[in-house]
Amino acid sequence: MLSSSSEKKVPVPVPGQRNILITSALPYVNNYPHLGNIVGAVLSADVFSRYCKQKGYNTLYICGTDEYGTATETKAFQEKTTPEAICAKYYQLHKQVYEWFDIDFDHFGRTSTKQQTEIAQDIFLKLHQNGFLTEKTIEQLYDEESKTFLADRFVKGTCPTCLYEDARGDQCDKCGKLLNPTELINPRSTTTGSVPIIKETNHIFIKLQDLQHKTKEWFQNNKDTAQWTTVARSITQSWFDKGLEERCITRDLKWGTPVPLEKFADKVFYVWFDAPIGYISITADQGGHKIGEPVGLIRKIEDAEIKEWKKRFGGGEDEIFQLDLRVGQIESVELHPEADKLYVFNVKIADTVTRKIVGGLREAYPESETLIGKKVVVACNLAVAKLKGVESEGMLLASKQNDGVTSLLTPSGEAPLGAQIYPKGAAFKPEKVLKKNPTKIILDSIKIGENNVPLYKNLPLVVFDSQKKVIAQVATEKDIAQGSGVF
Ligand SMILES: [Zn+2]
Repeated sequence: MLSSSSEKKVPVPVPGQRNILITSALPYVNNYPHLGNIVGAVLSADVFSRYCKQKGYNTLYICGTDEYGTATETKAFQEKTTPEAICAKYYQLHKQVYEWFDIDFDHFGRTSTKQQTEIAQDIFLKLHQNGFLTEKTIEQLYDEESKTFLADRFVKGTCPTCLYEDARGDQCDKCGKLLNPTELINPRSTTTGSVPIIKETNHIFIKLQDLQHKTKEWFQNNKDTAQWTTVARSITQSWFDKGLEERCITRDLKWGTPVPLEKFADKVFYVWFDAPIGYISITADQGGHKIGEPVGLIRKIEDAEIKEWKKRFGGGEDEIFQLDLRVGQIESVELHPEADKLYVFNVKIADTVTRKIVGGLREAYPESETLIGKKVVVACNLAVAKLKGVESEGMLLASKQNDGVTSLLTPSGEAPLGAQIYPKGAAFKPEKVLKKNPTKIILDSIKIGENNVPLYKNLPLVVFDSQKKVIAQVATEKDIAQGSGVF
């Protein structure tokens, strides 16, 4: 048996020499390694590594266990222990098996390391800086007993086509039909046996379609000279032919590389995104940060980047929203007795609550009766102000574009009276009476975005129910140019 790899002298790249890095596919940690692991990925690379070393090339051969993801969490759940303990146990087991087979790795590492976190988060933030990430709300099955979202294959139930009772959420093993877990009859969680519910969750997607041009060009330039297998070439080609699509790169799990954003603090990178970075981090790990390329990738996340992320995805201190906006409905409109540009509105914000609000919409809406019955966005926690002798108990939000065209902001039809409106992704903490100057919040920070939707620091204003579920949208009722202010 060999001495343990860590006692060996590890090679570092030498400028001007032929430097060769050899990697074997990282085995997943939650099982015993089998002959397939050895034959499929490790043995051939070991032979090549030994050959390169005999030829005198500066060669580094690395591998390691792929440790994050649902399967590890599930295994830990089954063995009634922690993911950390599962990984520590199986890492040793894998290492011993490869040593028994006399596989001569220069380093056999792991993906659950500090290097992995630093490098993966750094790549993630660079993708963001270059505009390759986007956020979406998706519906997923949720196990209320284990308080976890369920991957498709962890849901079983009756196949809607052949009525096989043990069909998986992604596919029926009996008739082969591809399924959505929500299609199953009598669905149940395979971890707890309870009936899953459907729950909304936010995730980050990588816009692979925007990377197609660059990666395809690289592939075209190399496919004839690089020694790739026919299968590798044809699969890659078919992906490009179909066109790359957006893919989700975050998961609602605890065991993984944390997403470096406050709003996504309870989520980790999907292993699909994370595991390939393992090759880089394990290489960085073996050299103790002394090797060439990957060292440049390791650095602290800059404050400015964090701020930019908070701005974009919200949830940070910058996005505490203190304005109490509600869905209201105009009941009646009168002309202001003293000012010819002002109306006095009676606005209903609950079945029994009406507010008197003074607003300057007479030029934009000269026929006052057209305003009656309209749904509006009402700022409800402003200090009472006297406007030309009439007290106003709030404000109706509107937007005006440069040429003077002015439009009320309107919640979509289904929005109930009194429902709260705030930026999606921001922390909503309205003060009883706003201390700040409201124009600081409204005029300086709310602008009209695409499709007439008002954005507060790039987060859309939407209507929520008391469970913080989005129930309706907000937009200007007339077409208003992007970037126009709100007052
Ligand atoms: Zn079936």
